[in-house]
Amino acid sequence: MRILISADMEGISGVVHTTETNPDGYDYERSRAIMTAEVNAAVAGVLEAVPAAEVLVADAHGTFRNLLPEDLDRRARLVRGRPRPLGMLAGLDDDTDAVLFIGYHARSGQGPAVLAHTIGAAVLDVRLDGRSVGEIGLNAAMAGHHGAPVVLLSGDDVACAEVLALTPGTATVAVKQALGQAAAIALHPEEARDQLHRTAAKAIRRYEQVPLVTFPGPLQVEVDLYGPYTVDLAVLIPGVSRAEGARTVTFTAADMPEAYQIITLITQLAQLIPA
Ligand SMILES: [Zn+2]
Repeated sequence: MRILISADMEGISGVVHTTETNPDGYDYERSRAIMTAEVNAAVAGVLEAVPAAEVLVADAHGTFRNLLPEDLDRRARLVRGRPRPLGMLAGLDDDTDAVLFIGYHARSGQGPAVLAHTIGAAVLDVRLDGRSVGEIGLNAAMAGHHGAPVVLLSGDDVACAEVLALTPGTATVAVKQALGQAAAIALHPEEARDQLHRTAAKAIRRYEQVPLVTFPGPLQVEVDLYGPYTVDLAVLIPGVSRAEGARTVTFTAADMPEAYQIITLITQLAQLIPA
């Protein structure tokens, strides 16, 4: 059995502010340690259920270099650094049986939700065939394309509700209740770890009962962008065109991997120029 754990940081227990998630923030080192411990709790749960499972952990926040390699459970292998194919899901392939999303956050425009955003500050919304999706939806759909269900998600209560709207079978661990973009009532990190360990073990045992999130191609993709410069750059990509209004670009993707690649490229372009 092959398991991929994708770990973001905004949805880790106690984390509520960008000074805790940015490498130059004063509390970042603490967040990395808590993030690593929460991933370890999930790894332990997975391996308790299926001791022979092969576990890959994809560091999926910001630089993709947050987890402390020496503190990660030595039974897991770490996917680290960027840019890389499949971004937050690097390591995913057709042999992957299930994925777990640890420390995930709600999509842009949701609120109150802790550090809600979609990929970067440049993106206001992404729609697949008219349906608004954030990182949870995009990554669940990519996993679904490869035949892997999202068996567990942890984050704030809004992130948990977001995955359940896509796939009611996913097990969730709400490590905090959002009070705002930068405020929450949080579980103690040790309590969060205990719940993650228990829930991951349970979730892996019933992975075959969790439905896949699928968006079959061809897909109509719309991306609402904050900055008009980003729109000007995005429409230079073949196949991407301006939609109604100054802020939206649109394209047709043959399938989910193509959609994912072009969305990634557009959001990377947004970082090249002033908003
Ligand atoms: Zn993140």
